[in-house]
Amino acid sequence: MSKGLRWGLIGASTIASEHMIGAIRANGGEVVAVLSSDASRGRNYAETHGISRSTTDLAALVEAPDIDAVYISTTNELHRDQVFAAAAAGKHVMCEKPLALTLADARAMVAECKGRGVVMATNHHLRNAATHRAMRDAIAEGRIGKPLFARVFHAVYLPPHLQGWRIKAPRAGGGVILDITVHDADTLRFVLGDEPESVSAMVSRAGMAEAGLEDGVMGVVRFAGGALAQFHDAFTTRYATTGFEVHGDEGSLVATNCMTQQPIGEVVLRTGDGTVPLSLMHENLYARSIRLFQDATAGLGTPAATGEDGVCSLALALATVDAAKTGRETSVAGQG
Ligand code: NDP
Repeated sequence: MSKGLRWGLIGASTIASEHMIGAIRANGGEVVAVLSSDASRGRNYAETHGISRSTTDLAALVEAPDIDAVYISTTNELHRDQVFAAAAAGKHVMCEKPLALTLADARAMVAECKGRGVVMATNHHLRNAATHRAMRDAIAEGRIGKPLFARVFHAVYLPPHLQGWRIKAPRAGGGVILDITVHDADTLRFVLGDEPESVSAMVSRAGMAEAGLEDGVMGVVRFAGGALAQFHDAFTTRYATTGFEVHGDEGSLVATNCMTQQPIGEVVLRTGDGTVPLSLMHENLYARSIRLFQDATAGLGTPAATGEDGVCSLALALATVDAAKTGRETSVAGQG
């Protein structure tokens, strides 16, 4: 395993506290500092999580010589400028999804990191799940023949402590599409090994989201290789189960309990020979994300999801927003 990095957290967020600080430490890394827009919140966060210092000054954090990499988990409208600041200071960057609110910004962030010679990753955790990796391998080995259809079940209940900007703030990149569909987009690209061409979608508003934001969506994606993928995402369903299925002309893969932050879930392969479970080695999704990022900074391979992957998932998410608005099948490439 490569050496643990010294990290600066940009954003005193829930995801960092619930998953990423632990994932960094599990890889031998150190969380050196945290940036918050509120000095007293930052101090409390640092104290709660055993982080030696906090700051409200982005330049001070990214320029600190005792920091190798930053993890950006602020609200979505802030990611762009924070990635630029980190890259300019020569820091490697792991940025949360969606990378930005426009494709032009996301592409510029990737170009900036490349130009500065720093590693950039997008924290699409679901690529790190044993379930999705096993499905990707089975498809690549031809075990279901040609993939014809995929179905993604990612309707969940947004827990009360997260019912803030996601359901209230369009300017922060709220709404279920930028929050959840963007993960489906990445997972579909990863599992199918194919690129989306167009999407049709309808959104719903069940009363949880405000300010015109959607809290549910269903849609269908057309992939370049010919497969169609349907997705169902929501903040409002308390009792739905999650899943991911791919149906080919020679077999089907059915994964359950897999669209989750936890290292759980099962996958079965159904063919003319019967139904067999795929063998899975579960691993903490976020710890794997950090491990591959850390390796990439040492010149060993690439992050699980690169900056370019974050651009592609955002392109499909933004096309979904457009498709729902216009009622038309919308080109993903046409997003600019
Ligand atoms: P949070 O709402 O927890 O944090 C976002 C920002 O809100 C923080 O940077 C913080 O600002 C502010 N904030 C947080 N808690 C409070 C509070 N109690 N009072 C006042 N302000 C607060 O967001 P999430 O952790 O849910 O999401 C952050 C990012 O991570 C988003 O981009 C999201 O899409 C992504 N995400 C990714 C996941 C994944 O699995 N890949 C899962 C969940 C989120 P400040 O830093 O200025 O203090």
